[in-house]
Amino acid sequence: MRITDVRTFPVKGRHWPRFPMVFIEVHTDEGVIGTGEALAFQASGVMTSVEEIGRWLVGRDPLQIERLWEQCFRRGVGMAALSGIEIALWDIAGQVAGMPIYQLLGGACHDRVRVYADGFFRGADPTPEQYAAKAEEAVARGFTALKLDIDDFLYLGERPALIRCHGDDLGRHISNAEVRQVVASVEAMRERLGPDVDLALDCHWAFDLPSGLRLGHALEPYDLMWFEDPTPSKSVPALATLASELAAPLCLGEALATRFEFREILERGAARIIMPDVASSGGILETKKIAALADTYYIPVAPHDMVGPIATAASLQLCCCIPNLLVLEHQMGDVAWRNELIDGPPVVNGGHFDIPTRPGLGMALNHDAVEKYRAE
Ligand SMILES: [Mg+2]
Repeated sequence: MRITDVRTFPVKGRHWPRFPMVFIEVHTDEGVIGTGEALAFQASGVMTSVEEIGRWLVGRDPLQIERLWEQCFRRGVGMAALSGIEIALWDIAGQVAGMPIYQLLGGACHDRVRVYADGFFRGADPTPEQYAAKAEEAVARGFTALKLDIDDFLYLGERPALIRCHGDDLGRHISNAEVRQVVASVEAMRERLGPDVDLALDCHWAFDLPSGLRLGHALEPYDLMWFEDPTPSKSVPALATLASELAAPLCLGEALATRFEFREILERGAARIIMPDVASSGGILETKKIAALADTYYIPVAPHDMVGPIATAASLQLCCCIPNLLVLEHQMGDVAWRNELIDGPPVVNGGHFDIPTRPGLGMALNHDAVEKYRAE
């Protein structure tokens, strides 16, 4: 079997026009088409990169996934582009084998995959009352774990920001009022939901070390499932301090890629939970390796999943076959056409995904919808 063509399909998603969903198809001379998705978050040029590697891949054996990955890695190919292509290659391998991808990677470790609801707060004003009401709605729909993004409203540009660190102000310091506001929201959700719903808080790299520590300590009474990215993830000593001093597990890694970028984090005890994204951390097999490395430190994995449905399908295949899975991200309130873009989208049922059974990723692009929502 040989690769004959690699195609990219940029599609509008909830982050458009900041960035599109980037779908990839790898075509073969035997008619099997593999589908992948690359996370283009804050990385222009992902499509160009996919097209460039695509030309190099033509004529090569799509089943030599590790060999092709390693060759691309050594050539310095960007990880988001390589991740999207790697997912498509696994989709081909699964279709050829007649099995879901996780069956080729050791088989299912779980009977179903638990998800947490991010975005449950969409449509709410950033007030404790509205967050608590939205959280209650999500739990009523079967979710047992939720994550609040404390800066989400900044990007909407039409409502007041809960915190201001991602605006024009470069300051990373959190004010007394901001601490009170975040604490009030988390407290309201905890009171409304009771002690057994898991709550996480994502800070999107907003703070300096003292502010991250301060907010983390202020939230200790609310028993967070994790405290995510209070600071940027470039300083391992700062992260190690946060991880060791805060009661809530420090979770990070959505912007890190490959075993090599996670190694020192794990060695230095700089995270208590990691969250690689299969669409940017190197693909399905590389993320499984990252998970295996984390497991040698008894660190669980909560995969990040924030773009389109093919990335979700790939994340689900990965989650099935990593023993140290904690929970998978799920976006509530995404664009209405998300599930139109593919046939057979994975459906959350009672806060879980069922284990997929179709060969490969188990879904293909619906090209009518892809054209309809194409990002130009
Ligand atoms: Mg995050």
